[in-house]
Amino acid sequence: MFKVIGLTVKKRKIVKNIAIVIGLLAITLLNSSTSLRKSDFKVKTVVIDAGHGGHDPGTHGAMSKEKDIVLKVALQVGSYIEEYLPDVKVIYTRQEDKFVELNVRANIANKNEADVFISVHANSLPTNTSDDRKASVYGTETYVMGVQNSERNLEVAKRENSVILLEEDYEKKYDFDPKSPESLILFSLTQSAFQEKSIYLANMIEHQFSNRAGRRSYGVKQSSLYLMWSTSMPSVLVEIGYLSNPKEEMELNNSSIQANIASGIFRAFRDYKNEIESLNK
Ligand SMILES: [Zn+2]
Repeated sequence: MFKVIGLTVKKRKIVKNIAIVIGLLAITLLNSSTSLRKSDFKVKTVVIDAGHGGHDPGTHGAMSKEKDIVLKVALQVGSYIEEYLPDVKVIYTRQEDKFVELNVRANIANKNEADVFISVHANSLPTNTSDDRKASVYGTETYVMGVQNSERNLEVAKRENSVILLEEDYEKKYDFDPKSPESLILFSLTQSAFQEKSIYLANMIEHQFSNRAGRRSYGVKQSSLYLMWSTSMPSVLVEIGYLSNPKEEMELNNSSIQANIASGIFRAFRDYKNEIESLNK
């Protein structure tokens, strides 16, 4: 009896173990089918972010302000997407000359569960730079969140993050100090889960700029950008050119060159969308 009971207990244990294994297997299969479903996504929503605005002019050249140029380019990128990719919903963080806080920009993207975030900016060298250097530095660069903070990348991050200082109560809203390099480096260590896709899109944008839009491209760069860090989707920050370079400032104010730049960003976005969606076929 004891033996029989023993056997029965043993059998029960085996049955129980088999049940556990089947259960685990089912959970694993369920999980993998969930992740398959998850990867089976379309690029449905894009947030186009024109940098700065209102009492924050961004950087400037001899005759123009960053906030005005980037608004024109951003609106044009959005209109191309609306026209040629009607299945994509375009959301702007601003469509007029108004101030929008950095965390509000990120929230717009996060709340709308955007699939891509594109922030449009213009670059410049510090005002005390020599004219020779200002004349020699021009071109585009696209930033993603990352740890490769060179001195110049940090300068851009400091400038673009310092917008926060124009916001009321910024100390209460943000737990990092945009003026401190230590603070910047520290938060760049948080690797973005979307870095791979962000780099992929950034490369496509720079490729378009140099091969189709006739711009000089400085390529894809990484830096500690608050905006990129706080958005939970692939996100890029495009610096469309240097306003400190007199020739490039003229070009960036030219509507047909603005259209070239905007269509470059549009084509990169379209190619990115096609590529991502083709992975699911
Ligand atoms: Zn900017």
